[in-house]
Amino acid sequence: MLRIRSGQALNFELKMKKLLDLIRLNRARKQGRLVRHYFLASVILISGGLFTSGLLEVYFVYQESWEHLGRVQKEIASATAFKIEQYVEEIERTMRSATKTREIVRDGLSPDYKWELRRLLVNSPSIAEAVAFDATGAKHAEAWRVRPVRRQNKWRSSSQAALEKAKEGKSYFGPVYFAEGTGPYMTIAVPIARFAGEFIGILLAEVDLKYVGQVLSSARVGKAGQAYLVTSSGDLIAHPDLSLVLQKRNLARLEQVEAAFSGAARPNVLVTQNMQGEKVFTSFALIPSLSWAVLAEQPIEEVYAPLYASMLRTSGLLLIGFAVALLATLLVRRRVVRPLESLRQGVERIREGDLSARLDVKTGDEIEILADEFNDMAAHLREAYTGLERKVAERTQALTIANEKLEKASKHKSQFLANVNHELRTPVSAIIGYARLVLRATEGQIAPLQRENLQDLLQNAERLLHLIDSLLDFAKIEAGRMDVRVEPVRIDALIDGATSTIEPLLNDGNVRLIREIAPGIPALSTDREKLKQIVLNLLDNAVKFTERGQIRIVATQQNGSLKLVVADTGIGIREEDLKQIFEEFHRGDLPGIKQYRGTGLGLAIVKRFVTLLGGDIAVESELGKGSSFTVVLPLDVKQSMSE
Ligand code: ADP
Repeated sequence: MLRIRSGQALNFELKMKKLLDLIRLNRARKQGRLVRHYFLASVILISGGLFTSGLLEVYFVYQESWEHLGRVQKEIASATAFKIEQYVEEIERTMRSATKTREIVRDGLSPDYKWELRRLLVNSPSIAEAVAFDATGAKHAEAWRVRPVRRQNKWRSSSQAALEKAKEGKSYFGPVYFAEGTGPYMTIAVPIARFAGEFIGILLAEVDLKYVGQVLSSARVGKAGQAYLVTSSGDLIAHPDLSLVLQKRNLARLEQVEAAFSGAARPNVLVTQNMQGEKVFTSFALIPSLSWAVLAEQPIEEVYAPLYASMLRTSGLLLIGFAVALLATLLVRRRVVRPLESLRQGVERIREGDLSARLDVKTGDEIEILADEFNDMAAHLREAYTGLERKVAERTQALTIANEKLEKASKHKSQFLANVNHELRTPVSAIIGYARLVLRATEGQIAPLQRENLQDLLQNAERLLHLIDSLLDFAKIEAGRMDVRVEPVRIDALIDGATSTIEPLLNDGNVRLIREIAPGIPALSTDREKLKQIVLNLLDNAVKFTERGQIRIVATQQNGSLKLVVADTGIGIREEDLKQIFEEFHRGDLPGIKQYRGTGLGLAIVKRFVTLLGGDIAVESELGKGSSFTVVLPLDVKQSMSE
């Protein structure tokens, strides 16, 4: 297994993590979330579609069967009404033909007409009794089946209305009545005329309406439905169940009967109660010539039956839909989720640094392509990181060798510095010592020129020693071998010492050195030699670059620190040099200064010493007007270091 450790590996790891997070979005923290999503989506889509189409089907079936049944039932009612009308008209026609006999034309009405009436009874089984009157209302002939239906005196009232109609040549249809102990009857009367327009009497027949019931029975209303006949006053005059008719039921209060005769806009169907109090689906049709209505009805359960069947069918489909959704989900799980899961595991292994991870997905679709690309990517990564590791190892080895060389060089440098210290300082110190000795011993014995030369020799030797000291100091600082030796230091005494060293170098009477030491500055706790070097270097520079005017050294106490300012009225520093003057070996471009002595190390040493003592240095300068160096140092080095 290959382990990744480099910075690039970290980058790669982050990318892999993102990819992993993406996959985790699908799989998420909870196992099988994707499956649930798919499942829910399939179930919602499939069952939602089924449910909606089921609802629509139920609705349309309801609408259609309602309208269809309404139409069919209305037609049944109308057809039955038509048949009944035809039946009654047939009786009337038969009666009318019975009035057109040869005897009537020849003799008019006579008692012999009874033979014709008997024939009428034979021809029309529903006529129970037939009577012939003349125009004055006198009875001429009569015939009956079993016995007279009405008593003689009652004939008068109905025959009077019949006479009126007959005189106009019209037929008369009397109201329905119930003869004692029998079913309903109706009186029909037709005029008797010898010739057209010559009215000689009427033929009156009592028609037994139970035969109308037979017409009704032939009407089929659904499976359990039926049709019946009522008069405008609500009397039930025909019903497949004759016993109901014999009970002389009046149905005027039934909603459907009211609706049939109300004359208002009539709907095809009504859902209402029938005479037995059951909920029924009712249609009706009027027979206007008789003021009767045929009502067709069937139980409401029968109407709703196709609706229930459709709902049952829809529920079945819904169940099948659920099963299909479940199967689809399982299929999706097999085909999508499992390969995705193995993809996720592969990515996770790579994220953990196992670049040998490979996926084995054989779905034959985009996921397999993805897995193949993943495997390619892992192979490339493995190659790339093997190369990377090799390069890192090579570079590390090269660096180790270079480090060893550097260490050796550093040792040589230290050795060299130690040698320089000894080999350079000793002879130069000896020259200085001897020059001073000779100067003192030859006082007044040598010519002034010789003495001047000797003094020059001494000065140059001293500068050389100073240069060597500076170089050594700097080398020590660079090597980190400069220690801080803390001791109590009185700043006024230190400044006094430094100024007395510097004063001989001042440009005679042209430059004044001013000391301003604020009273009450406590003794510092710092490295005396380094602080002295700082002050000396700054003063030395001020002297070097100031021809006339003054040099001020100011010491004050500020916020628990010592503030030292060395300001001069010298040549000043160019702005572009200001940023670099604290860098080692930097020397300003000084065309006006003739005898310029310097190494470019003075300020670099100052800067490093100030830093060593826990302080800070800043410079301000204006070309031609002067410069001002400000050093801020802690009163106690150790205390400042520990803070
Ligand atoms: P050097 O030994 O050359 O004086 P320093 O590090 O002490 O080296 O100074 C670097 C440069 O900074 C000098 O060469 C000079 O150009 C500039 N400099 C330093 N102090 C002053 C000053 N008081 N007035 C003007 N220029 C200064």
